[in-house]
Amino acid sequence: MSLTFDFLVVGSGSAGLTYALRVAEKGTVGIITKKDRAESNTNYAQGGIATVLDSSDSFESHIQDTLVAGAGLCRVEAVELIVREGPVVIRELIDRGAKFTEKKGRLDLGKEGGHSANRIVHAADMTGKEIERVLLNQVSNHPNITVLEHHFAMELLTEHHLGKQVTRYDNDTHCYGVYALNVWDDKVEKIYAKTTMLATGGAGRVYLHTTNPEIATGDGIAMAYRAKARVANMEFIQFHPTSLAIAGADSFLISEAVRGHGAFLRNKDGDRFMKLYDKRLELAPRDIVARAIDDQMKKSGSDHVFLDLTHVPKDEITEHFPNIYNECLNHGIDLATDWAPVVPAAHYICGGIVTDLEGRTSINGLFAAGEVSCTGVHGANRLASNSLLEALVFAKRAANKAIDYFNNVPVEKHSFPDWDDSGTIDTEEWILVSHNKRELQQLMSGYVGIVRSDLRLERAFRRTKLLYDEVESFYSRNKVSVPLCQLRNMIGIAYLIIRSSMRRKESRGLHYTTDYPQSDESQNRDTVI
Ligand SMILES: Cc1cc2nc3c(=O)[nH]c(=O)nc-3n(C[C@H](O)[C@H](O)[C@H](O)COP(=O)(O)OP(=O)(O)OC[C@H]3O[C@@H](n4cnc5c(N)ncnc54)[C@H](O)[C@@H]3O)c2cc1C
Repeated sequence: MSLTFDFLVVGSGSAGLTYALRVAEKGTVGIITKKDRAESNTNYAQGGIATVLDSSDSFESHIQDTLVAGAGLCRVEAVELIVREGPVVIRELIDRGAKFTEKKGRLDLGKEGGHSANRIVHAADMTGKEIERVLLNQVSNHPNITVLEHHFAMELLTEHHLGKQVTRYDNDTHCYGVYALNVWDDKVEKIYAKTTMLATGGAGRVYLHTTNPEIATGDGIAMAYRAKARVANMEFIQFHPTSLAIAGADSFLISEAVRGHGAFLRNKDGDRFMKLYDKRLELAPRDIVARAIDDQMKKSGSDHVFLDLTHVPKDEITEHFPNIYNECLNHGIDLATDWAPVVPAAHYICGGIVTDLEGRTSINGLFAAGEVSCTGVHGANRLASNSLLEALVFAKRAANKAIDYFNNVPVEKHSFPDWDDSGTIDTEEWILVSHNKRELQQLMSGYVGIVRSDLRLERAFRRTKLLYDEVESFYSRNKVSVPLCQLRNMIGIAYLIIRSSMRRKESRGLHYTTDYPQSDESQNRDTVI
């Protein structure tokens, strides 16, 4: 079976929905998304969107803060773009119906680590949910947009599937859509479009502890890499310093904004320890705070540290952080009286599919925006609350370029072969998938986490290779399924993270290795794979 749209969008988070609403002004749009439409990293974003709106703040200051966090690897033009476009995208969200938190009739601007001014627009501590709500509301009512839930994008349709050899150095490869698994009837469909937007988000699930929901398995990056798109800076994984550490429970993020609001970090003896690491104390950038916590945990043998908000009045906590307060309470922790146990967890991937300033990838007709992309905004480390901003700004820019491509670039029509699963079975032991996934997550957390070394990376590489061989062989014999495809993608992502980390023989931004603890200016460039 096949479907055809003018514009295809893979993913229904902030980037995919923003893009879809824009291109829908010019043609038919199909959005495919692997679970229910709201299930995305966007929906879990708490802190907010960084934007210069106060007269005491300035674009230059936001640009500077972003460049400092990015540790020499940001693309300055990309940073300038998101910062200057920030107030516009906030206005557009408000016009679409978003309700952000106000104080005395004006937007309440929060402050987060690494920002030198109050500039975080938020909807209490559920900013992402509010953005997703308004965007989905408009998408669901748009006559030109069809949303296909529980459709899993497996592979990009390129000349490779027509029998042509495609390499990463060609510049005449085109994307014509995707092969997608329709989970409702277990059939692989061809979905054709002249332009395809990959907005599939991040890859936090490659690690054992992560703030990311289940969807974050890096599918878009893995798929694009297999299709020979260029991918960069995969070694820069941001670990959020403070996710709630409750044995047996999924990690839950305790937003940066809580430290911005005055929370203290304490070690197992109850001592505030950030003074040992950075003069900005709890408001130091995330990588510094995460490494400090990691160090304290390793030194003390404890599996967590504590976040202390007990000096803040209860009504202030419940007013600013209702969601976090309730989630902690569900686990028996009253933030007004108790310290919360926290650990660092994989949170955001700064690298991804390389795009230009218009969201174009190295494959013609293929666009990428949001966490899946590497636009150059984040460099070696993302400044808090810059990712939603990047997703919204770049999705819009990509949409304008995609419309241009749709209207002006002639693209040959091809008929792609149906998905060939002849000779495959579905009777093998699926326990391999869950076991290999667990093993992968453990090795990534153990060897490719906050602190790395050559030895750890080599070990991780060898073990990932074994998992790769095993899973590829399983994949060739068995009918496709979402868990199997996701595992295959996660192994691809792990490979990219490990290879990029091995190439960077220095410590920079989020990549810290004990073998090369200093940064080396001769390596001040992207790791492109
Ligand atoms: C807990 C948490 C808190 C955060 N807080 C903040 C914050 O305060 N401020 C900030 O700026 N950023 C924050 N972030 C980061 C930010 O939320 C994300 O970077 C951003 O939402 C990414 O948006 P996106 O549209 O690129 O991807 P997502 O919102 O993750 O959307 C990806 C979409 O792609 C779909 N998808 C994935 N793979 C496939 C496939 N193979 N086939 C079909 N569909 C697929 C998913 O189902 C989903 O719909 C936070 C992230 C988390 C996890």
